[in-house]
Amino acid sequence: MKTQKITTDINLAIDSLRIGKLVAIPTETVYGLAGNALNEKALKQIFILKKRPLHNPLILHISSYEKLQEITKNIPFKAKKLAKKFWPGPLTLVLDKKNKISKTVSAGKSTIAVRVPNHTLTLKLLNSIDFPLAAPSANPSGFISPTSATHVSNFFKDGLDVILNGGSCSKGLESTIIGFENQNPTLYRHGAIPISDIENCIGTIDRKIKNDLNPSSPGMLSRHYSPETPIILVNSFSKYIYQNKHKKIGVLSFENKESFSLATKHEILSKSGNINEAAKNFYSALHSLDSKNLDIIITTLLPEIGLGKTINDRLKRAVANW
Ligand code: AMP
Ligand code: MG
Repeated sequence: MKTQKITTDINLAIDSLRIGKLVAIPTETVYGLAGNALNEKALKQIFILKKRPLHNPLILHISSYEKLQEITKNIPFKAKKLAKKFWPGPLTLVLDKKNKISKTVSAGKSTIAVRVPNHTLTLKLLNSIDFPLAAPSANPSGFISPTSATHVSNFFKDGLDVILNGGSCSKGLESTIIGFENQNPTLYRHGAIPISDIENCIGTIDRKIKNDLNPSSPGMLSRHYSPETPIILVNSFSKYIYQNKHKKIGVLSFENKESFSLATKHEILSKSGNINEAAKNFYSALHSLDSKNLDIIITTLLPEIGLGKTINDRLKRAVANW
């Protein structure tokens, strides 16, 4: 078995990408599992390594807005406006693809998801190569998204030689995905840009964020982003703990309002109740609780303001099936 390199040297990543291999890249949202988007072998390897169903399209990363015209066409005015305001940043646009991008990327669709990530190392990397990167989140399909190089390394011991280490992700939640249906902007996934910021830029938009039968964006499937430990929503932490003394319980709380016995593992998203800090810590807290061999994780929904909506969306999907 080859040793895995966790490095800040983008040249190691470039060498791997140029020969069709995959590397993990840091972004401000979550870590991505990246391959040359113009290389079929690399694209197929992303699906294999992630165990991603072939009907779930990949997301492309480019270095700047100027590159968008090379891979997409019919860009609506409001898409342009959003890109100008939020790129580099956690906004993904779903647009008509040019033939240059294969149907392996789009999972047979005529559209592709694309964004410019806001992370110094990854922007440097993108500026040093002449192909876009296909880079969905660097986790096996359905598992918790990775927000540190260690999370990625824990998921992929084999099959991934290079992990670019860019520290912990500053936003910590996936990108907000906006598509266009008959030119109308439509929210496909809540993400690291609150929907209110999007609407301040282009006016009210449609929402199409949950449709299990015919998902426009497979990230909308109910069962997604889940820890392996069962996770449930409760009304009262202390009542649940009192009634379930025989269980090994983990608590995922927003603020630091209650303390529990030492036997209870407790992850606080933001001691001061700051929603952005909670977002940054969210997946990391789930990874940590998931590694503690617990019977159950209990949590509550957050206030539905700003990124609270996105965190609640992920929590509801994580608890979906338990
Ligand atoms: P991930 O980074 O793993 O969250 O994957 C990117 C997200 O973009 C997934 O939820 C995909 O389903 C979504 N996506 C990618 N391409 C498209 C597309 N053409 N239309 C709608 N959603 C897409
Ligand atoms: Mg994902």
